[in-house]
Amino acid sequence: MLVAITYHEDFAKNGFSVLKERIRPSWEKLMESGLVDGVDVQVFLAKPAPLRLVERAHTPAHMANMQTDPYRNVALLSAGSVMMAAEMVARGQANAAFAYTGTAGHHASRGSCWGFCYFNDVAITILRLREMGLERFLIIDVDPHFGDGTRDFFGEDPNVFHINLHSGSDEVHDPQRNNYDIGLTFGASNERFLGALKGALELAKDFDHQIAFVIFGHDSHQDDYGGFNLTFEAYPRMAQLIWEAVGRKNLVWVLSGGSCVHVAERVIPDVIRVLAGRWPS
Ligand SMILES: [Zn+2]
Repeated sequence: MLVAITYHEDFAKNGFSVLKERIRPSWEKLMESGLVDGVDVQVFLAKPAPLRLVERAHTPAHMANMQTDPYRNVALLSAGSVMMAAEMVARGQANAAFAYTGTAGHHASRGSCWGFCYFNDVAITILRLREMGLERFLIIDVDPHFGDGTRDFFGEDPNVFHINLHSGSDEVHDPQRNNYDIGLTFGASNERFLGALKGALELAKDFDHQIAFVIFGHDSHQDDYGGFNLTFEAYPRMAQLIWEAVGRKNLVWVLSGGSCVHVAERVIPDVIRVLAGRWPS
């Protein structure tokens, strides 16, 4: 299989209020696109992440705070969606995967969370992949908001190469710990964003990762709420740059920020089209 897609209708029903409206329309557009052929591109029903891993990732205090949170179940399901996608890639069952989510993850630290995030889906998934014997991971966060939660988990871990393209102004390169913050400031254009992405991927060229994650916030689109000014043309180019840089394998796209229905309807199928080798269509 070329691409595995993990999904659950609860993401549309019970996802975070700002994020959930895009889920069903983008899903329907994907189904109409003809991309999901049941052979090269297949869909899998997401399951909740095992609690024992979520409890290992987050502090007891955070777990206690989450106990009564209305988004707890959909956040567990979102983390499970990412985990299922990554496991299929790790086992060689798929070249790439796209994980739908109902809550985001990159602002969830070990002991706290904010910004539509509750549990850190990628950090919990990396715990699971390490149980499977994998060690080294590349995280490319293209959501315009700074991935502070992910950094809280992996800031000191040189086996996680963390690229953070964001709409602030901080430019920090820490080759000791493999943390790269690339501040594009507010309103970055396609060319500025894609140029910076290219440069960042070049920095990661010699890092021998086993699985790469893209934290895919389409709030980077000019019509959406984040601080970049990208247009539709940027998304297949972004996907192609990343896909080529990782050698067309072992890549997991994780849906993150974004609320615009018309953006999600177009950019999600476009990314999957690239991963399936069907771009241009
Ligand atoms: Zn964002």
